[in-house]
Amino acid sequence: MNLEAFCQSLPKLELHAHLNGSLSTNTLKKLYKMQNPNSEDCENITMNVDCFSSLGECFKVFDIAHSLTVTPEAVFQSTYETIKEFKDENVIYLELRSTPRAVDGKMTKQEYVESIIRAFQSCEADFPSILVKLLISINRKQGYIAAKENIQLAIEYFKKYSHYIVGLDLSGDPMAGEPFLKLLEKAKMAGLKISAHCAEISNETEATDILEFKPNRLGHCTCIHPNLQGSNRLFNMLLASKIPVELCLTSNVKCKTVPSYASHQFKYLYEAEHPICLATDDKGVFHTSLSREYEIAASTFSLSRKDLVNLSMSSVRYAYATSEEKNVLLSKIETFSREVCDTIN
Ligand SMILES: [Zn+2]
Repeated sequence: MNLEAFCQSLPKLELHAHLNGSLSTNTLKKLYKMQNPNSEDCENITMNVDCFSSLGECFKVFDIAHSLTVTPEAVFQSTYETIKEFKDENVIYLELRSTPRAVDGKMTKQEYVESIIRAFQSCEADFPSILVKLLISINRKQGYIAAKENIQLAIEYFKKYSHYIVGLDLSGDPMAGEPFLKLLEKAKMAGLKISAHCAEISNETEATDILEFKPNRLGHCTCIHPNLQGSNRLFNMLLASKIPVELCLTSNVKCKTVPSYASHQFKYLYEAEHPICLATDDKGVFHTSLSREYEIAASTFSLSRKDLVNLSMSSVRYAYATSEEKNVLLSKIETFSREVCDTIN
């Protein structure tokens, strides 16, 4: 079995995927058709821009997805299609994250969250091979009031649907916004897990604050290692924290926060045996898939098939799933390993 086929068939866990950025060109076309049933003009719709000049530009691309997800039906459809696509590449566990949106006269934040839940329920019936959870995102750019509102909403829905809603995600343009960590404390107390984007750009004070807050998982952690505009102090602090890091290779390369795959922070964290998992971030925007990310990691950092299985296995530990669910996920990967890996190695 070649590397591509192996990575495709390996049962995988996706722990860092933003709903809007994950929408494929196919899904965007479907959404466009839903909004413009009489128009034939959807051929040019795509979010995939292969060369961004900065992280700021990456954030602008999301506007396309946002403009097409303005009704509860569209949110349902985008969630459903995205889960199906992850399922099709053997993702057995998916944590989607999304910022609740209100659209004047069309949708409330509650309806937004409920549409996602409805899609989860439909997928549970239609695609039993994939288990899906939701993290409610707080977009730093939207400010303090919106963050407070979203945390309230997350706590409310967590009480009602704790098997679907498992945590909060602190995300958005790291160049904009105020400190939100105090607000997150409330969510933590309510039992929600916290994932925080960390050190996407160089900002030692912010990175230190986030590390000291001790989220359950961290996203990216790019500018932490001294070779990537971080410092020895920050890197040692991260290693000592043992907080798992969600690594998104293609996202960081395409947003130019790292110069190349080979210089990605994966290298330093993997060598230090720090807990990590591979993720796509925004598979639609960055034109990637989780299988592809495994493949890139394997070819860039000379990982064996067994290393890839171990990466997937360790992701189970960091997932916001129950221990019963984790046992099921582990046994799926173990079965694959026995059936496929042992015949290769
Ligand atoms: Zn992200």
